[in-house]
Amino acid sequence: MRSLFYDQLLIGNRWCQPATAQRISVISPHTEEPIGETPAAGPQDVDRAVQAARTAFDKGPWPGLPVSERMEKVERLAAVYAEHADAMADLITAEMGSPRAFSRLGQANGALSQMYLTLATAKEFDWVERRQGLFGDVLVRRAPVGVVGAIVPWNVPQVLIMPKLIPALIAGCAVVVKPAPETPLDAMWLAEMLADLDLPEGVVSIVPGGPQAGESLVRHPGVDKVAFTGSSATGRRIAALCGEQLKRVSLELGGKSAAIILDDADIDHTVNHLKMAGLMNNGQACVAQTRILVSERRHDEVVDALADMMSSLQVGDPADEATDIGPLVTQRQQHRVMNYIRSGIDEGAKAVVGGAERPRGRGWYVQPTLFTDATNDMKIAREEIFGPVLTVLTYTDEADAIRIANDSDYGLAGSVWTADVAHGLDVAAQIRTGTYGINMYQLDTSAPFGGFKQSGIGREFGPEGLAQYVEIQSTVTAGPLPAN
Ligand code: NAD
Repeated sequence: MRSLFYDQLLIGNRWCQPATAQRISVISPHTEEPIGETPAAGPQDVDRAVQAARTAFDKGPWPGLPVSERMEKVERLAAVYAEHADAMADLITAEMGSPRAFSRLGQANGALSQMYLTLATAKEFDWVERRQGLFGDVLVRRAPVGVVGAIVPWNVPQVLIMPKLIPALIAGCAVVVKPAPETPLDAMWLAEMLADLDLPEGVVSIVPGGPQAGESLVRHPGVDKVAFTGSSATGRRIAALCGEQLKRVSLELGGKSAAIILDDADIDHTVNHLKMAGLMNNGQACVAQTRILVSERRHDEVVDALADMMSSLQVGDPADEATDIGPLVTQRQQHRVMNYIRSGIDEGAKAVVGGAERPRGRGWYVQPTLFTDATNDMKIAREEIFGPVLTVLTYTDEADAIRIANDSDYGLAGSVWTADVAHGLDVAAQIRTGTYGINMYQLDTSAPFGGFKQSGIGREFGPEGLAQYVEIQSTVTAGPLPAN
């Protein structure tokens, strides 16, 4: 069994003593017992990591190597990671309560496939392009953006690190990753794998810590670009800080996605799929389809089917293969979700399944809850709950459904459920979200992903994701450029 107790931080690819004695204790959300510990990086550690990255980037050789040499390092990392993917999934389950089946497929293997997909994208990417300009040839070169600060939350920790770390490394950047304090252990295991890669000194650091460590990374003048995933509130703060320094920033933020069930939808298929699309990862997913929009005509039928599905969910030990819903990540999150459920009831919605009472026994569980008799101005319909809670809203006609779906501060994801896929496309075109599903909602990590409105700025995955880690430089000359 691997040790889950770390004494050092990976700073500039070297294991270093942390600047302070502060520690992060990881508590199992299922047993409420400690399972591991890491140092908590403070501002001094962040400073050392950024200085090391700065030197690695400014003095080289990393940014000047051929792209293929950097890709080789990532290929080696992927090969090592593949051997441990299931164990990494189990560690994430132990850390934050993601059910085993989801952890294996959606967490660790999702992270692994991100490495392979980014490698494939990088092979096709136009790193240097020759164009015809006004005076002669123009060389358009994609140069690495510089030192990247990557900040991620705890819900799919490895899946969120990879689309920042991997394209940044391939582009030639030096990277400082700040994992969330709830999930430092999976990041430290990744740090072990990175330390064995024999990267040039300074290229990667992993510094787990809280908001203070995150903010010192954002504020650090040595950082050229911040890549952030997390809540819209933190994203707003980070964007403001980056704005002061005109620092590049990409933001992947919250969501409150609407699933529009049209009258011609197959209800069994829809509800079957909403089990995952609405409740994956115990409902702790930015893309969760949590506002279920149905017409007055099919309302009762949909509510009955959803209620059956939600009452039959297996809630319990996330390490059990058969578990649908595990505990929430922390006690704070458990209380937050229970408060949302209370607010729904107080505002007049009806909990037809579940409710705000804490299930008996240990662990930070909440009851999967289905609300009806709700309106789109209620808190449960406007704010991101991040727990296993679905809210059914009623629409009068399709235009009303589209209006309600778009009546949100967020614009991350959504879906439409219909027998007519062509018509589904028409609906998709009227919805202001970054991704959309027809008769399914699953993240396709080969396609650009990100938010409209307060769900973010920028895109991850695919060439658009890689483009977030380059600056474009145009070089002109009168007449033809020499062939290379
Ligand atoms: P959060 O914003 O509180 O924290 C996210 C990360 O930012 C953590 O590492 C945290 O330590 C750090 N942080 C907090 N304050 C900071 C500050 N002032 N400066 C710098 N760093 C700071 O988010 P959370 O509540 O832990 O995570 C859940 C949120 O993440 C949800 O809103 C969810 O929708 C969102 N999310 C979005 C995506 C996406 O791709 N769009 C994916 C997953 C999660």
